[in-house]
Amino acid sequence: MIVELIGRAPAAASAPVDAAVVVSADFLTSDIVLLVVLAVVALIAAGIIAFVWRAIVRRQHRLVSESSSALQRLDDVNSISETLVLAHPTIRLTFGTAVNSKSRFDRFDLRAHMEASILENEAWFEQELISRNTAVTNFEKYRLDVEAISYELLGKSVGRGFAPAKFTHIENKLFQRRTLPYPEPKARITAAVSYTSPQGRNSYSQELKWDYDMLEEGMRTAQANRARLTTTEALHKRERRLMSAGLRTEILRRDGFRCRMCGAAASAETTLHVDHIKPVSLDGRTVPENLQTLCQSCNLGKGNRFVG
Ligand SMILES: [Zn+2]
Repeated sequence: MIVELIGRAPAAASAPVDAAVVVSADFLTSDIVLLVVLAVVALIAAGIIAFVWRAIVRRQHRLVSESSSALQRLDDVNSISETLVLAHPTIRLTFGTAVNSKSRFDRFDLRAHMEASILENEAWFEQELISRNTAVTNFEKYRLDVEAISYELLGKSVGRGFAPAKFTHIENKLFQRRTLPYPEPKARITAAVSYTSPQGRNSYSQELKWDYDMLEEGMRTAQANRARLTTTEALHKRERRLMSAGLRTEILRRDGFRCRMCGAAASAETTLHVDHIKPVSLDGRTVPENLQTLCQSCNLGKGNRFVG
C-alpha cells in the first residue's frame, strides 16, 4: 500500500482529488480481500477441527460400543426385533362424494358415509390395522427386553482409557440413541361431501377426519352395528317362517273364521288373513297371542301401524 502511494505521487500532484479517491478505494479493496482470506482460513480451520473432533468422538463411541455388554446385547435384540417393530406409514385415505342438491347436502350423514366406506374396504383395513397393532404388541415385548438389558447391564461395563463417569455417560447416550422408536400407528381418514349449485354459483363442502384411534373404534362400531342388523333380520325372517299352514288354520278357527275388527266372514269378496298384531318388523313374535284374523280391507288399512 505504501509502495503504491509513493508510485502514484506525481499523478497526485496534477490531480489531487482523483488520487485521494484511488488511494481510499485501494485501501478498501485490499482490506476486503484480507478479510475474505481470513474468513476462508477460519472456515477451513473450523472444518478441520470439526472433522478431527468427530473422528475423536466416533473413536470414543466405537471403543465404548466394543466394551459395553449392554450395547452389544441391545444390538443383538435390535437385529432380531427391527422388522417386527417397524413403524408403518400413515394410513391416508379420503372418501369423497358429491350430492346433487342442497337439501341432500344438509341431510348428509358423514359418519354413516365414513362407516360404509370403511366397511366396503373392510378386509384391507383389517390388514392395515393388524400389521400396525402387531408392531405395537411386538414393541411392548421389545421394550421389556430393553428394560431388562438396561437394568442388568447398563453402567456395569468399564472401558480401558476411560474415566468411569465418561464411559457411562457415552454408554447411556448410545443406548438411548440405539433403542428403536415406538411404532406409533397413524391414520388420517377423511370423509367428505360436497355440493355445487347449478352454474357453480355456490359451493359447499364438509369433512369428517378420523385419526388412528377413531378409525379403529369407528370400524368396530360399524361392524357391531352391522352384526346387530344382520341378527335382527335373521330373527325377523325366522318369525315369518314360523307362520305355518297349521298355525294359520288354528288362528282362523280360534277367531271363528271372522275378521276380528269388522266381523266379516270369508266370502267371494272377502279373504281372511292371519295378521301379526305387533308387526314382525317391530319385533312382534309369531305366537297365537300376537296373531289375529283380519279381512283383507281391515288388514290393508292397518298396514304396519301398531297401536299397543
Ligand atoms: Zn275386517
